[in-house]
Amino acid sequence: MGHEKVVTHCLPPSVPNKNPQLSALPWGAVSAGFFAKKEFFRSVRKFCYETKGSYDPLIGGMIGRMDNERLYTILDDMNGSGLDGVLLTSPISVAYFTGFVCDPHERFLGLWVGQDGETALFLPSLEKDNAAAALAGSDLSIVPISDTDDPYQVLRTTRIKQAKKIAVEKDHLRLSQAEKLQAALGEVHLFDIGATIARLRNRKADWEVDRMKEAVRIIEEVMEEGIKRVKLGMTEVELVAELEYLMKEKGADEPSFGTTVLAGKNSALPHGTPGTTKIEKGGFLLIDMGVFKDGYCSDITRTFAVGEPTDEMKKIYEAVQHAVEAATNAVKVGRPLAEVDRAARGVIEKAGYGEYFTHRVGHGLGLEIHEYPSVHGENQDVIEAGMTFTIEPGIYVPGVGGVRIEDDIYVTEAGAQTLMTFPKSLTIL
Ligand code: MN
Ligand code: MN
Repeated sequence: MGHEKVVTHCLPPSVPNKNPQLSALPWGAVSAGFFAKKEFFRSVRKFCYETKGSYDPLIGGMIGRMDNERLYTILDDMNGSGLDGVLLTSPISVAYFTGFVCDPHERFLGLWVGQDGETALFLPSLEKDNAAAALAGSDLSIVPISDTDDPYQVLRTTRIKQAKKIAVEKDHLRLSQAEKLQAALGEVHLFDIGATIARLRNRKADWEVDRMKEAVRIIEEVMEEGIKRVKLGMTEVELVAELEYLMKEKGADEPSFGTTVLAGKNSALPHGTPGTTKIEKGGFLLIDMGVFKDGYCSDITRTFAVGEPTDEMKKIYEAVQHAVEAATNAVKVGRPLAEVDRAARGVIEKAGYGEYFTHRVGHGLGLEIHEYPSVHGENQDVIEAGMTFTIEPGIYVPGVGGVRIEDDIYVTEAGAQTLMTFPKSLTIL
């Protein structure tokens, strides 16, 4: 799998802002008067200076309030770039910067942040009341777009029409949307802000880690309860149903991905799909699952032995367990991410199973189940405090079975702090 490279600055080559008074330019007709919030952003900047380092989720957290510090970073990056504004269109980014969670399906969703600090959230009109409630107390303007409106024509009625250089999320904005945007706004040049956003999201705030800990707490309870419900003869999908029921019961918002239960030889398929295979004595039982809670996710894998394991099963299991430990110990701030993968791989190779560890050792997680960074053997990006990623080595021997053990870790200056408490030693069901 590829990985996203984070650079410290992704905006167009810095062009001195020839017109620092851009915000004072006559931007033309403004629909509904939602672009008159300069004073608000001045106070945001002041607020950010004054509270630097002490981030209070009640003031700038994910739910219901504008995330001032994050928007400030965007504004800061724009300063001197020559950009007129940023148009964020991925629901994840909108949630990240505003706290408003919305799935617009195929409809248009966009957060505009002008270089002068003016902001507006364009969204499907049926989401208007949800947004008003979630954003109560913030100065973000809400611009509803009905199903019969052309969203690009709505943009055109605002001062965005005057913009000549706009940063967008190239990984998200579809080519057809970019074309419509350019057709509506006339001569507009698009730049990518994806790397700036990845850089921001890469370093989790304490309150974000707390959300992840809660998602981990829920999924570990599900694992603990769930394995008590395993019965011989039960199918993989029957156990999936039990586990997903438990997720809801324990307070999860939803599974963070399709729950994976693989029994016996199926456990040797690293991306297998649960089916009607029955759980029988003498094989492995691999469970890989996670939940979303308040926007953040968890991801855990544990592999169990059903009945007494063979010596080979024990040997495979031990190698994976030691690989997790080695990889966790290899997490050191300032060292390349590649070393985490290599530490796990080294242990598994030494045990003689190198050819059966067929994927990277881990992936970033947070707002998304897979996000930056990709923890693989060629990734030279350095480990930073505040990163959260999985460590999940595995050995998959066709015809025998597979073992994967997956922990979610948080990087501190002192190294990896595992968010998991569920035992990693071999448990016999
Ligand atoms: Mn997983
Ligand atoms: Mn994973």
